[in-house]
Amino acid sequence: MVVAVYPGSFDPATYGHLDVIKRASDAFDRIVVGVLHNSAKSPLFSVEERVKILEKATQGIHNIIVKPFEGLSVNFARENGAQVIVRGLRAVTDFEYELQMAQTNRVLAPDIDTVFMTTSLEYAYLSSTIMKEVARFGGDLSRFAPPEITSEVRRKLSMLSESEK
Ligand code: ADP
Repeated sequence: MVVAVYPGSFDPATYGHLDVIKRASDAFDRIVVGVLHNSAKSPLFSVEERVKILEKATQGIHNIIVKPFEGLSVNFARENGAQVIVRGLRAVTDFEYELQMAQTNRVLAPDIDTVFMTTSLEYAYLSSTIMKEVARFGGDLSRFAPPEITSEVRRKLSMLSESEK
């Protein structure tokens, strides 16, 4: 049984993330999506909200579980009995950082391999940051994430702008 973890910020998940999750869930026996709680970053959604959003968006996939985590991906992989860390590669700009991370993780945990999924072309430009940027200026989000996610983005941004008034 091959277990893979897919760690990331997912603030919030996009069609790009969901595409990687779907393909990884076909390739591996079990996928544990790890939602990173990083105190150095100030995300739009709390880690609990990001977990909930992902759980809802991946309801139809039977071999997936979504969990919050803190710290090193290799430790998260070990805790979940995973042999593989999945990451997505969109463009060459992702490559240098991802290669360095994968090599570092290999030094820390030689028994765990990083597997890269190249993004589907239609999502190659897409990131959580881009989606939030478009949302802030009222643009159409329907190409970026499913309705249950885009409605959460709009709700959160309007709550924040209300509290700034
Ligand atoms: P991180 O802060 O760890 O980069 P992200 O949520 O931005 O967290 O991304 C998590 C993983 O998903 C990374 O491996 C990233 O390359 C991948 N990813 C992000 N957007 C896409 C996309 N549009 N297509 C494929 N993979 C993606």
